Amino acid sequence: SETVERHEFGAEVGRLLDLVVHALYSDREIFLRELVANAADATDRRRFEALTGGAPALPEGAAVRIVPDKPARTITISDPGIGMSKAEMAENLGTIARSGTRAFTQSLADAKPGDRPSLIGQFGVGFYSAFMVAERVEVTSRRAGAEEAWRWSSEGRGDYTLAPAERAEPGTDIVLHIKADAEEFLEPIRLRTVIRKWADHITIPITVAEDGVDEPANEGTALWRKPKSEITEESYAEFYRHLGHNFDKPWATLHWTAEGAVDFTALLFIPGMKPFQPVEGERDSRLRLHVRRMFITDEAQLLPSWLRFVQGVVDTEDLPLNVSREMLQATPVLARIRKAVTNRVLGELKTRAKDAEDYAKFWENFGSVLKEGLWEGGEHKDLAPLLRFRSSAVEGWTSLADYVSRMKDGQEAIYVLSGESPEALAKSPQLEGFRARGVEVLLLSDQIDAFWPERMERFEEKPIRSITQGSVDLSGIKSDDGALPEAADVATLLPLLKEALGTEVSEVRTTDRLVDSAVVLAAPEHGPDLHMQRLLQRAGR
Ligand code: ADP
Ligand code: MG
Repeated sequence: SETVERHEFGAEVGRLLDLVVHALYSDREIFLRELVANAADATDRRRFEALTGGAPALPEGAAVRIVPDKPARTITISDPGIGMSKAEMAENLGTIARSGTRAFTQSLADAKPGDRPSLIGQFGVGFYSAFMVAERVEVTSRRAGAEEAWRWSSEGRGDYTLAPAERAEPGTDIVLHIKADAEEFLEPIRLRTVIRKWADHITIPITVAEDGVDEPANEGTALWRKPKSEITEESYAEFYRHLGHNFDKPWATLHWTAEGAVDFTALLFIPGMKPFQPVEGERDSRLRLHVRRMFITDEAQLLPSWLRFVQGVVDTEDLPLNVSREMLQATPVLARIRKAVTNRVLGELKTRAKDAEDYAKFWENFGSVLKEGLWEGGEHKDLAPLLRFRSSAVEGWTSLADYVSRMKDGQEAIYVLSGESPEALAKSPQLEGFRARGVEVLLLSDQIDAFWPERMERFEEKPIRSITQGSVDLSGIKSDDGALPEAADVATLLPLLKEALGTEVSEVRTTDRLVDSAVVLAAPEHGPDLHMQRLLQRAGR
């Protein structure tokens, strides 16, 4: 008809459309995330404008409706949101609205073709993602507060049309005419799966029509956005179970909102059990990053890998929804969030560590992971008070501070012995001389224990020393009951032993280490200690 106006897309839109439509197949389900996010945003905006008197209030039971129609081969996504005027449609759907989208287009164009699918799959591409599954898209919209409605229509090939239309209420309908190779999305079950995966925590109800009935498709509660006083322990636990397919109760639940340098809300859990999937295998933190409730990625590494046992959600307003991978890496927002979240988790551990019995439950599950921070992060000051050890002198777990408080007069170092198991270590002849003098040795049996003592070097000025390494001088320390054996005169024996062992050993000498046993192996002063040497040997080096 004469009232239909034809418009060209801006050059950037044409380029984006081309890339989006041709660059991928496997990740195209995210079109639904994008359209539902827009619908939810529009609804939020109307709610807000209604508050300030600028728009009619949202109707009771407002929802985003998704209606697949197999015979017609369409999916219609309807929302009762703020809607768009004719000018807004031309502005928002005919050009690239957000700077984020523009940056994304650029990085997409620069990326090698093979990298594009993951780029697009991970991050928002906005409204134009509809053309991944639709050969034609019609948007009928009526701006809240206006009487007229308009229809925007395009096949995604360079131009679009605008024409007057009818809509009884404010809001927007998006009709996707589904491509032949995207028919899977006409199945309600497929749509529900995508919603659950990507948009479960959008607060407005989302329904998918099945046999003429609108079935709820999302849980609909961004639990972390509710005030703490309204959340029961049970609903925290329920959310935790949903989050990581957990069966246990969380050992710690941290829920807070940060305001200032960066605004975010976090809801984090420290599990009460080791997960069945060992955290040792998975290296990266899988904290979920949400932007305005929408799930963006669980690969933003919001915590260092040595806190990867922490599960949960960080939700921020300070990033655009269609943030690109490059942007995630470059933005100072994430670095700030990471720092704040890390500090908060460490603070919680510090507080909980005051209750030894309670803290032991955590330590037995995740202590070995936390200790990686001594090696990787070098966070010695923050981590040292959180460490717990088995010891040759006391039952249960001990801290470094407690060890230091028990050090003998004349004892200069914190002594450690590492190996396979605390039981085997407790029987080691290496301990004889220490036991006889009442000198305590920490028994280290986690794999990571072979590495970090060298990195950490000292605690409260006291060097940390492996007792299997170098010469151990205990001569300054008196035995508690004075009952140390006389040192035998072996001066003539030593060179004979060295001769007999040849190049198998670098040196044969007397030691304070032993009381009952005749000989023991020791490692050189510098370089790997005995346990480390065994590990290296096993690794074939
Ligand atoms: P972004 O959401 O990042 O702004 P999109 O490409 O997803 O980018 O959407 C572009 C713009 O189109 C939105 O900012 C919004 O103004 C408008 N828009 C899209 N969908 C709707 C909708 N359902 N209701 C109202 N406005 C919408
Ligand atoms: Mg959007």
